[in-house]
Amino acid sequence: MTRLADRMARVGPSPTMRVPIAAERLRRRGVEVVDLGVGEPDFATPAHVKAAAHAAIDADFTRYTANAGAEELRAAVCARYRADFGVEYTPAEVIVSAGGKQALVNAALALFGPGDEVVTHAPGWPSLVQQIALAEATPVVVRAHADEGFALGPDAFLGAVTPRTRGFVINSPCNPTGAVMPEAALAQIADVAADRGLWLVLDLCYDRLMYDDASPNLPRVVAERARDRGVLCGSASKTYAMTGWRCGWALAPASVVAACNAIQSHSTSNVSSITQRAALAALSGPQDCVAAMREEYRRRRDAAWALFTAHPRVRAAKPAGAFYLFLDVTDALAPESVRTSAELADRLLDDHHVAVMPGEAFDAPGFLRVSFAAPLESLREGAARLHALIDAVAPDSDRRATPAR
Ligand code: PLP
Repeated sequence: MTRLADRMARVGPSPTMRVPIAAERLRRRGVEVVDLGVGEPDFATPAHVKAAAHAAIDADFTRYTANAGAEELRAAVCARYRADFGVEYTPAEVIVSAGGKQALVNAALALFGPGDEVVTHAPGWPSLVQQIALAEATPVVVRAHADEGFALGPDAFLGAVTPRTRGFVINSPCNPTGAVMPEAALAQIADVAADRGLWLVLDLCYDRLMYDDASPNLPRVVAERARDRGVLCGSASKTYAMTGWRCGWALAPASVVAACNAIQSHSTSNVSSITQRAALAALSGPQDCVAAMREEYRRRRDAAWALFTAHPRVRAAKPAGAFYLFLDVTDALAPESVRTSAELADRLLDDHHVAVMPGEAFDAPGFLRVSFAAPLESLREGAARLHALIDAVAPDSDRRATPAR
């Protein structure tokens, strides 16, 4: 039998990869899949960003760069955060990584270790828990609840603190719920982090995709209250429709950045030089493409929310950020047919050719995640087919239907 390292007992592949693989298998058989499963923009990368990448190749900007990213790109990250959030960081406090994912795993490996407890949340993006486990620390998962709009309040986080707590890892806007942490909530957590010397790692990969006028400025809260303890992780992936380019970053105290740099220097080294030039154009060029995409997501969010919750057995809060609806389908499950949301998602894909992500992937059974980074027509079709499936699997149930909220 293959003997793997002990850590593999704690770490598994990302459960969000399963649905895209199954959908791809169907596509290869010639089936047209309505894809509401993937967590990525359906827009093309903006033209000026692509042009910068072409120019980088033509100028032979194709060698290794500084491991933490070219100086001008790190300066552009600082300038973007200054303009958008009013916070001051220097290039020595920035590292550019292969997506927000690498920025986050670097931080977990640099800050957490055996015997440490790290408080994070569910429903949540599965990699955050797995990265803590990869660092051989213990994830302590606090729960947000559907009937509170999945609000991420400070009490649950602070109530989970023990003498072994080493830090917090918080994602806002949250994948999969779309919930956004208010500034006041983060301020309370940041004060405790500063007071007790705990790390505060924020996954802000969707922070340019918030739909309310008074969106919270979480980087400023961290910079003002826990600058020495805060790690801000961001990404070009969702903001600029650049998922495949692999570019993210962390802003943190220089000593933390140096530690992340050491880890990255022994794994992937610098992000592709061509991607770096593209990201430089994205961050320092015109930002109207970001606003235009956000407005389109907002339109789709409103339409998708109305479409999916039109069925009395489907409920959802309207998400304040990111591009997912997190549907409560517990009223659509039936013990004698489709018992779990994972089974419902499988049936929806296998029989109705609609890909959505089961809540189980986010530690939230009873839910389905629907991406509205998809054309309106696909959302309309997806809602109709989900409703038809629900009517077919639980037509006579006397379960009391609860109105959408
Ligand atoms: N954080 C969250 C919550 C995500 O959903 C994702 C991607 O889906 C990431 C971070 C990482 O994205 P990337 O590595 O493409 O920047």
